[in-house]
Order: sequence, then structure tokens, then C-alpha cells
Amino acid sequence: MRPKIAAGNWKMNGTAAALCELDALSRALPENPPQVVICPPSPLLFRATDAVHGCPIQIGAQDCHTEEAGAFTGDISATMIADTGATHVILGHSERRDTHCETDADVQAKARTAWTSGLTAIICIGESNAQREAGETLDIIGAQLDGSLPDDVTADNTVIAYEPIWAIGTGKVPSIAQITEVHDFIRSRLTTRFGTEIGNALPLLYGGSVKASNATEIFAVENVDGALVGGASLKADDFAPIVAAL
Ligand code: 13P
Repeated sequence: MRPKIAAGNWKMNGTAAALCELDALSRALPENPPQVVICPPSPLLFRATDAVHGCPIQIGAQDCHTEEAGAFTGDISATMIADTGATHVILGHSERRDTHCETDADVQAKARTAWTSGLTAIICIGESNAQREAGETLDIIGAQLDGSLPDDVTADNTVIAYEPIWAIGTGKVPSIAQITEVHDFIRSRLTTRFGTEIGNALPLLYGGSVKASNATEIFAVENVDGALVGGASLKADDFAPIVAAL
């Protein structure tokens, strides 16, 4: 049985005042909630882990460096993230692949350093609109999986998030058939490379314009184990119904 996971990526949104949303979310969670992970901007990590102390909410970061320490101005390491009490780190988000030129090899190196610090890596993959229109979606997804995942991936150290770039922040959601096709493809690629035990145990999230109104039908897809949510994770009122749909 794979865990159900509702993850929220706050991106570059929120100051300390936004931490009240964590309190509101914890009060709005259903009785037996799925795994809930909120990834605020890094200046909020320490305060966020304090804020969720005793609540069934975990905290994650949005990126880490490949190195544990050194002369890398402006970067943060997995060690520092773990030191805040955070348990997860998002890696290879399309916004970082795009604006920070991150490659699959970078993502793989970051995953290794995240694991060394005891963090779970949430590794993101997804095709652009042009790639989908050119019929390249599965080739792109396959290549990203091959390049971004280290060989010693396990269901304890890694979560995979499929986020079609054209669905992020656009309100455009792939059809259920399109989500099913890609998630089935990812599952089969994982079992082929890592064997059926690990391949079937790795949680697989969908991300891109997930809202309370579409969450239920997306979560009904067999190989969708949860969601990585951007805009609708910022407010507890929007995120709690998505958690409840899982
Ligand atoms: P939206 O939910 O705002 O489309 O963002 C998805 C995303 O990029 C989560 O990482």
C-alpha cells in the first residue's frame, strides 16, 4: 500500500504572517489525514516546523544545493534544511529547471545529498506544451526519470511528482486519460528499472492546477497517490478540501 500524500508548494509566497495558515490547516484536517507536507520559502522553515509541532503536518524545502557546505552564496544545503526540522525537499521543479537551468544530473546529485541528510526528495518531472504537442511527452518523461533518479531510490527516500509545465498555474488540467497515461507509463518505467517491489511502492503525485473542484477525479486515477499543489496550498480553506478528497 502506497501512502497518500498531499503536498503544498508555497513557491516564493508568504512571510511570517502566512504561518497562521498552518495552524488553520491543522484544525481543518480530517480525523485520519493522509500525509501532509507543506513547503514554504526557506526563511520560514524554522518557524514553520515550530508551528506544526504536534500536528500531523510535515515541512519541506523547495530546493537544496548539491554540496553540504561551502562558498555558494545564496544557496542552502540539505543539512541546513534537516537542521530546521524539515523532512522533505522538492527537487527539479520545472520553475528551477527553467530559471536556474537545472539539469537531470543536477537533480540526481541533489537527491543524493538530500538523502544523506535524511530528507525525502520530491522529484519533479513534466513536459512543456510544445513537447506535448509534438507527441514527445512520454519520451521526455522517460528521459527525465532516467536522468533525475539515482539508482538507489527507495519508497522511503523519494516521492515523484508529475507536473506538466503547461498545467502549472494556468488553470489548464490534463484530461483524466492524459493523467492516467503518463502515470501508468511512469509506474511501468519505475518497475522496469527498480524492480516490482520498489517500483510499485514509490508514491506518484500529480501537480498542476489541482483544486478542490478537480481533486476527487484526479485522485481516483489508480497510479495517482496524491498531489503537489501550488496556488491552492497557500490558504488552509483551499487546501483542506484537497487533503480531505485524498
Ligand atoms: P499550481 O497548483 O499553482 O498549478 O502549481 C503546481 C506546482 O507547480 C506545484 O509544485
